[in-house]
Amino acid sequence: MGYRVQPGGVESYWNVHTFFQLMPPAELFAKHPEYYSYIEGKRVADQAQLCLSNSAVLAVMIDRIKKRMRESPEYLIYDVSQNDWHNPCQCDNCLHIANQYGGESGILIWFVNQVADAVKQEFPTKYIGTLSYQYTRKPPVNIKPKENVVVRFCSIECCFSHDFKSCKENKTFLADLEGWSSLAPHLYIWDYVVNFNHYQMPYPNFSVLQPNIQTFRDNHTIGIMEQAAYQSRGGEFAELRSYLISKLLWNPDCNADAVINDFMSGYYGRSGKIIRKYFDQLQGLVTKDVHIHCLSTEEKHFTDAFIHSCLEIFAQAELVADNAEILRHVEMASVPILYLKCKQTPALAKADGTYAKFCKITEREKITHYSESGEPHRLSFHRAIEEQKP
Ligand SMILES: [Zn+2]
Ligand SMILES: [Zn+2]
Repeated sequence: MGYRVQPGGVESYWNVHTFFQLMPPAELFAKHPEYYSYIEGKRVADQAQLCLSNSAVLAVMIDRIKKRMRESPEYLIYDVSQNDWHNPCQCDNCLHIANQYGGESGILIWFVNQVADAVKQEFPTKYIGTLSYQYTRKPPVNIKPKENVVVRFCSIECCFSHDFKSCKENKTFLADLEGWSSLAPHLYIWDYVVNFNHYQMPYPNFSVLQPNIQTFRDNHTIGIMEQAAYQSRGGEFAELRSYLISKLLWNPDCNADAVINDFMSGYYGRSGKIIRKYFDQLQGLVTKDVHIHCLSTEEKHFTDAFIHSCLEIFAQAELVADNAEILRHVEMASVPILYLKCKQTPALAKADGTYAKFCKITEREKITHYSESGEPHRLSFHRAIEEQKP
């Protein structure tokens, strides 16, 4: 996500959710409460945004983003975007501008366009980026992002067991994507490909990866970030997911099934065919009515029978592993099923050695995060099992 020198070059993006990074309330709120969101009769800084209609906010923002561009010239795109929560300003001036341009994305683009205009002369080859995210996902009307603005459109609300075109839950997302596609001169995507509440939980989204990337491509997006378990090893099928996504980004029309099979035999050796059985059984849980999300706590589609059958498959896969290295790969692939059993039946998992095996693998492989929230989640997961009475 940050700047790295890479072969071929990557169009790197300076930062995200930058309103408060560039204009911190700790520094400015006491003296200038009017820079921040007006909500229910008063100015607030906590979990809020900026008052975008205030010309002084625009002036400070321009000054600070220019300073950032001078100090860190290695980026192509510099982010001016909403914080990672809601609460846009509801003052009369902001509401007036938002209404004029079709809602919250309208006033955002109105603001970001002015920042982009102001940096253009000094930085003619650079871009100002922003987000279309949550309350700004719906595209604006009567205004377009300027030529040196990059919109990064986010899919956080979507169902990820069904592709964008086939699930009723994704209907408005698809309409918004098409809207931005017709407005934005440069459209980037921030997409989500794991369960951020349970990095280790089985997550049957493999069938949507290809059609969704194709949908982005067909809507003229030129940059896609597939956000996954970025804090630690041990995400569910992390290696396979990265491999397949890389192939798809290179060629959205590649034969995904062949790529998966190639990975299965290359990475899991003789165990690959057996792990493919597990993979198919897992993806097969998706029916018309099973919707999964990237902040999911829903576990209803995983039955005890499913867990039992998957554990048997992994026992076979371990038995035929070619060597110690491949056995490690196979054990890593089994972590989601161990995790699931520990969550669903903690007493049994503790008694029958499932939990001990989970701990052995996660410690050996230095798996530090079971969710994006990190340590609190990891500790409560372990506590729930350790306090089980034999
Ligand atoms: Zn305002
Ligand atoms: Zn769905």
